[in-house]
Amino acid sequence: MSPLKTLLHDLIGSHGPLDIASYMTLALTHPRHGYYAKGNPFGSIRDFTTAPEISQVFGELIGLCLADFWLRSGRPAPFRLVELGPGRGALMADLLRATKLIAGFHEASSLHLVEINAALRAAQADLLANVASSLNPRWHASLNDVDDGGPLLLVANEFLDVLPIRQFERRGAGLRERRIGLDRNNELAFVLDPRTAVPEEIAFGTLAEGAVVETSPARSALVGDLAARLGSAGGMALLIDYAHEPESTSADAGLAVGDTLQAIYRGERVSALSHPGDADLTARVDFQALRRVADQAGLQTHGPIGQGEFLRNLGIEARRRQLVEASPQRTAEMDRAVARLIDQDRMGRLFQVLALTAAGSPTPEGMTESGSRG
Ligand code: SAH
Repeated sequence: MSPLKTLLHDLIGSHGPLDIASYMTLALTHPRHGYYAKGNPFGSIRDFTTAPEISQVFGELIGLCLADFWLRSGRPAPFRLVELGPGRGALMADLLRATKLIAGFHEASSLHLVEINAALRAAQADLLANVASSLNPRWHASLNDVDDGGPLLLVANEFLDVLPIRQFERRGAGLRERRIGLDRNNELAFVLDPRTAVPEEIAFGTLAEGAVVETSPARSALVGDLAARLGSAGGMALLIDYAHEPESTSADAGLAVGDTLQAIYRGERVSALSHPGDADLTARVDFQALRRVADQAGLQTHGPIGQGEFLRNLGIEARRRQLVEASPQRTAEMDRAVARLIDQDRMGRLFQVLALTAAGSPTPEGMTESGSRG
């Protein structure tokens, strides 16, 4: 048995079944055995390819969106340029390359990368040294460790989906929490908490019997932290992620319905319980729920809108044409990459973008007026 499985068995043996959030926290971030804490999660076998790795255009357009917001906010200096979970660093590298010619932007920025993985920190350092050697990035284990001082311009791509979730199932007159216990063969297995839970954020009245809803206290807490920072210092946070399908939202419950916990082990989809510490675990992001948390915290919210719409608004077509003119031999490759990012049946709608700003801030470029509130 792997050391992490032994630890999980011991924990369940002494405390009873774990909630899914505790399981995800241990499986992903246990300091020695967690998937994102040890080794290189993006090592020789890629578990997935993310948007910034599909095309440089993704990071470039996000860079222009942030820089445009900075210009329209009166070029504050200094400001904090922050990325949560930068992976191999492609997004930040492309963002910095694209904003080099925006006078004063790099000079005013202090660069902060929130990353727990040592190997990825090193990869990010290498990549960024080539694009913006003068910027001296600093690494932190959490957004809480980024010091105050100037507005925040923050981007997080595929970061929220690794933050832990809890699941609740409608049973009779209430909800029961889905937990992880041990079955007869002493294997990890999902079990329903025998007690009825009534988390106050879930109005479960019209949920069908057996329907599963997910909450993520960790994501809500992150939005709370962002609200505090944006509220006091200004700026913008751009959150991009794999979204819960809008069709599955129960208006009454106020939450998207469905079990979206997923595990990928060496490129293959596996059971969420089969490879703790060795599989990537994610759950889709309920952006409507997050937007409500942000609204309640007094932020201005923009979107969520589809990644395709966002990138088209920012001029992805024009940028694709420029690149193709510069290297015609790469036309087919470039067209394929852009289609993958924006097509409605690919990442264009599955991935969504939510922008958060303090009250009274400009509307971020790319987030259409119809999608903005507040
Ligand atoms: N944004 C990147 C990679 C997304 S994968 C891209 O688009 O390619 C998630 C990233 O978040 C990885 O870099 C991972 O090491 C990091 N990560 C995961 N959990 C974290 C946590 N709790 N705190 C900080 N970083 C974390």
